[in-house]
Amino acid sequence: MIMRKTNSKPQGILLVVSGPSGAGKGTICSMLRKQLPDLGYSISVTTRQPRPGEVDGKDYFFKTVDQVKDMIFRGELLEYAKVYDNYYGTPRPYVEKLLDEGKDVLLEIDIQGALQIKKVFPSGVFVFIVPPSLEELSARIYKRGTDAVDVIEKRLASATKELSYANEYDYIIVNDVAEKATRKVMTLLEAERYRAARTYFIVDKIIHHNTEA
Ligand code: 5GP
Repeated sequence: MIMRKTNSKPQGILLVVSGPSGAGKGTICSMLRKQLPDLGYSISVTTRQPRPGEVDGKDYFFKTVDQVKDMIFRGELLEYAKVYDNYYGTPRPYVEKLLDEGKDVLLEIDIQGALQIKKVFPSGVFVFIVPPSLEELSARIYKRGTDAVDVIEKRLASATKELSYANEYDYIIVNDVAEKATRKVMTLLEAERYRAARTYFIVDKIIHHNTEA
C-alpha cells in the first residue's frame, strides 16, 4: 500500500462508513463528528427531496438530476450511485483538499459508492456497520418514522443483500449500543494511524538523520 505524501506530512485518512439502512451509521457518524471535531466531513450531493428539517449545504447539497449528471460528466464527483431511485455523490475537490492537508475525512455512503472509492483510494479505511439482527433493523426503521411504508419495505428488502457485501470492507462493527460502536470506530481509526505504510516516512527521516518535523 503506497500513501501519497504532501511535504513531510502524511495524507489524512479517508474513513468510509456504510451499512444497511437502520444499522445506525448516521447516528455513529454524528457521534464521531462530535467526538472528533477535527474530522473532516464530506457533504454529499443528492437528487432526493429534503426531509423536514434538512438544510441545503448542511445535510446535503440538494440538486436536480441534470445538475448531478453535469457534475458526473465534468468529473466533479469522487463516486456516485443511484440509491433508492435517487442519485447521491461525493464532491471531489473538498475531500482531496482536506486529505492533502493531512486531515482525516469521513464519508457516509452506500456500498456501491464505497466500492468505487476503494478503487481510487485503496488506502482508505472501510467500515461496515451491521445491526445485531434483522428484527432489530426492522424495528429501528419503523421507529424512525421518517419514511413511507413502501420506502421502508424497499429498504428492508435491500438489507439482506447489502449485508452480503460486508466482506468487502476492512472492519465490521455490530451496532448494539451506538456509543460503544462509535468508540470502536474511533479505536480502529487511531490504530490505522500507526499502520507502517502510513508512518514509514518517520523511519525514513530517522535513517536519513533528518529531524525536521
Ligand atoms: P438518505 O436518503 O437516507 O439520507 O441516504 C440513503 C443512502 O444514501 C444511505 O445509505 C447513505 O449512506 C447513502 N449516501 C449518502 N450520501 C452518499 C454519497 O455521496 N454517495 C453514495 N454512494 N451514497 C450516499
